[in-house]
Amino acid sequence: MHIDLRSDTVTKPSGGMMKAMASAPLGDDVYGEDPTVNALEKRLAIMFNKPKALFFPTGTMANQAAIKLHTQPGEQVICDQYAHIYNYEGGGASFNSGVSCKLIDGHRGMITAEQVTAVINPPDFYHSPLTSLVALENTTNKGGGACWDFKEISKIRSVCDAHHLGLHLDGARLWNALEVTNEKPEQYGAIFDTISVCLSKGLGCPIGSVLVGDEALMEKAIRVRKMLGGGMRQVGVLAAAGLYALDHNRERLSEDHAKAKAIGQVLKSTSYVAKVQPIETNIVIFELDSTVDSAYFIDSLQSKGILLSNMGSGKLRMVTHMDYTDQMHEKLLEILISI
Ligand SMILES: *Cc1c(COP(=O)(O)O)cnc(C)c1O
Repeated sequence: MHIDLRSDTVTKPSGGMMKAMASAPLGDDVYGEDPTVNALEKRLAIMFNKPKALFFPTGTMANQAAIKLHTQPGEQVICDQYAHIYNYEGGGASFNSGVSCKLIDGHRGMITAEQVTAVINPPDFYHSPLTSLVALENTTNKGGGACWDFKEISKIRSVCDAHHLGLHLDGARLWNALEVTNEKPEQYGAIFDTISVCLSKGLGCPIGSVLVGDEALMEKAIRVRKMLGGGMRQVGVLAAAGLYALDHNRERLSEDHAKAKAIGQVLKSTSYVAKVQPIETNIVIFELDSTVDSAYFIDSLQSKGILLSNMGSGKLRMVTHMDYTDQMHEKLLEILISI
């Protein structure tokens, strides 16, 4: 049995999703004429109560477009040191937007309003880069799937208002956070200027992200997407997967969360694991006992058909997802106990 827990991006479209894709009405989306893309964008705009939504091939491109919309070259973005936009987008923030990132040493990928305030450069001090954007991530990826305290987000919004800064959310796994906290998408829409959400993580689509935002900012988003090479044609075939996923794959995220918690419990009980980070959603980050070599551990699990990720600095990661079945789960727990 092949058990792939490297990421929640390894899922394959289900039969139902493939059917929805095959029967989607299509048109040329560069002309704005793909009815399925238009339906997906409209659905997300309504869901977040934002005037505009735009379909992107990847979460990276959606985040990169958002950074471009909020900044001018030479300016600075405030984010946590774990942020995906800083660590895992190929240096895109500097390449595409010519901005630097001011990194905050936060807690599991989350920062406080106080920390944000402390690193804003005074706009009249022309020696320093002009601070123009704060970017948050929910759930945090490198932070182990942690969910934000909404009160802290509100405080950061107030800081952004006082200092005329934009506020972007990398919501690649916002669906997981919403499932746990029972918050509503429109609460996020009311706070953030722009939000990117992924359809290809927990929701199980083969591809796709959507950026929602305010009218004035989003007016330029379609041009930025074109510049980044993301103007696509009959992609209703992909948007149909997104619509299907929103209907069928959101509620089941709680199953992924329960399985992740169970994995964490078992890891904690073993002698070879030193530390398991708190598990809130579908990401399990753990550290091995100092006597266990991580490369050896990963190799020996691989020989039993189990794949996981090495996050560096002694941290290993397992991510549960919709293609990780009950049967695989039982088998994994058995193996983790036996080794
Ligand atoms: C996966 C992910 C993205 C987007 O990644 P793509 O692979 O480009 O779709 C953005 N932010 C976070 C936190 C992610 O985990």
